[in-house]
Amino acid sequence: MNVLNKSSRRMSPVHTIRFTAQTLRRWMSLYADNINESEQLLTDLDAAIGDADHGANMLRGMNAVAERLDDLALADLSGQLRLIATTLMSSVGGASGPLYGAFFLQMSHASLHKAELGLSDLTMALEAGVRGVVQLGKAAVGDKTMVDTFAAALQSLRSSCTHHEALPDALKACRKATQLAALGTIPMVARKGRASYLGERSAGTQDPGAVSAALLFESLSHSFVPLNPTRQPTAVSTVLL
Ligand code: ADP
Ligand code: MG
Repeated sequence: MNVLNKSSRRMSPVHTIRFTAQTLRRWMSLYADNINESEQLLTDLDAAIGDADHGANMLRGMNAVAERLDDLALADLSGQLRLIATTLMSSVGGASGPLYGAFFLQMSHASLHKAELGLSDLTMALEAGVRGVVQLGKAAVGDKTMVDTFAAALQSLRSSCTHHEALPDALKACRKATQLAALGTIPMVARKGRASYLGERSAGTQDPGAVSAALLFESLSHSFVPLNPTRQPTAVSTVLL
């Protein structure tokens, strides 16, 4: 006779993994590494269709966040997300600072009083974050911005929720979806942000913000294993191009 009841059969150890304040700090540390590694790519993309500062902007912001990782550890999950938001808002110049700031601020509000998030809670927090980006920047899917990547992330995560996937599996699928979404901005004509000034000439280049957002989800997907100090960040050129 099978003594396992239905729910214990479904709860494999990987299904018990949660997103916690510690996961958040790992995520930010890995994203800072990833941005350091990818600064030149982001700069080159922004040079092609913007003003060549997206690499420097994101580097300044994520280095500031990385420097505050010890301070972050003193706050709860929601407080850490708020601190990340305010750090990015105050250190990143350009459109991307307030946009990423709004993302983390709304994630913070959605995580209030929660010590850990399962897949559906994390998806809801990310949905709140993306709503913050859209409310501020008014970009829609297809406008060739970071919103194209964010929308693909949410679509993938919602599908994973429906299929009751484990969090690490869901984030792996999400990473793939966001890489494709960033690549999908290549033929688009920009309708928001600086690239929109170029009109049809903005087609043919990946949107820099769509790429930095894809790197955010790539880092998130690797956040569930302990940080290895000798780990070399994945070269973005092999991931996205
Ligand atoms: P700036 O455009 O001010 O130089 P950055 O170069 O740091 O700022 O960021 C550019 C990125 O910001 C773009 O590639 C795009 O993804 C994103 N972006 C710009 N405007 C918007 C907007 N209104 N909504 C969403 N994302 C936007
Ligand atoms: Mg720029």
